[in-house]
Amino acid sequence: MLINLTISLNYSAINPKVIYNMKKILFTFFILTSLNSNSQSLNFRAQGKYYTAKENYESRNYDDAIKAINESKELLGGSNYQLQYLHVMAAYKAGKYKEAQIEMNRYFNILDRKEQPKGFSKTVEELTYDETKELTKLIDPIDSNVANQIKEKKRKEEEESKIAEAVKHFKLINCDNDDCLAGTIWVNGKVKCYCDGKGYVIYLNNRYTCKYCKGTGKRDEKVRANCSSCKGKGEIYKYDGDVYLSDYEIEEILRNHKKEIDYYIKN
Ligand SMILES: [Zn+2]
Ligand SMILES: [Zn+2]
Repeated sequence: MLINLTISLNYSAINPKVIYNMKKILFTFFILTSLNSNSQSLNFRAQGKYYTAKENYESRNYDDAIKAINESKELLGGSNYQLQYLHVMAAYKAGKYKEAQIEMNRYFNILDRKEQPKGFSKTVEELTYDETKELTKLIDPIDSNVANQIKEKKRKEEEESKIAEAVKHFKLINCDNDDCLAGTIWVNGKVKCYCDGKGYVIYLNNRYTCKYCKGTGKRDEKVRANCSSCKGKGEIYKYDGDVYLSDYEIEEILRNHKKEIDYYIKN
C-alpha cells in the first residue's frame, strides 16, 4: 500500500493537484489508523481504571474510587452499568448523596436506553442480582439524604444570615449588677492575719494561739474582686435587635463573633 502510494506520488509529480489529493488521502489513512488503535488503547486504559476503582472501593477509599471512575468514563467517552453501579455505591458511602443521585439517574438513563452504554472491549463481569438489588435499595435513602442535605444547607444559611444581622445590634451598657463598681464588687475574702500569718503570738516567752485566726494565720475581710457579670470590665454587651434571640443564642453569638460585634459598636 505504501509503495503503491509512493509510486503514484512520483508518477503524478507532473500535476500538483494530484499530489495534493494523494497527500490528503495518505494523511487521512494514517489518521484513521492511529485513531482506531488509539481508541482501542483508551478502552483498555478505561478498563484498567475501572479495576483500580473497584479495588479502591473495596478498601473503602471512596474518593479515590470516584476519581478512577471519572477517569475511566472520560477515557471511555461514556459509561456503562458496572461503572454506574460503582459510582453510585462509592458516592453514597462517601456521603456524597447529590452525586449518588445524579449517577443513579444516569444508571437508569442507560437502562432506559436514553444513553447508549459504552462497553469495555474485554468482558467485565455483569452486575449480579445482589448488586442490582443493592443499587435499587439505595434509591430511597439517597433521595431522603439529598432532601436532608438541602434542608440542612437552608437551615445553615438562615442561621448565618440571622447571625450576620444580629452582630450589628449589640451595644455596651453599664454592668447590670447593682453591686458592681467599675467591674469589681466586695466579696468575703481571707487576708493575712494580724499575727503575720503565723497563727500564734509570743507573750513573755510563751506561745499563744492567735485569737483572731485561731491558728489558721488568716482572717476574714471584705476584698474587691472582679464582678462575674461583666468579668471585671464594668460594661456588658446587650443585644437590642428586633429579631428574637434566646439567651443561649446571644451567648453563642457573643462567644463566637466578638470581633464583628466590636466592629459594629465602634462604627
Ligand atoms: Zn492570727
Ligand atoms: Zn460588673
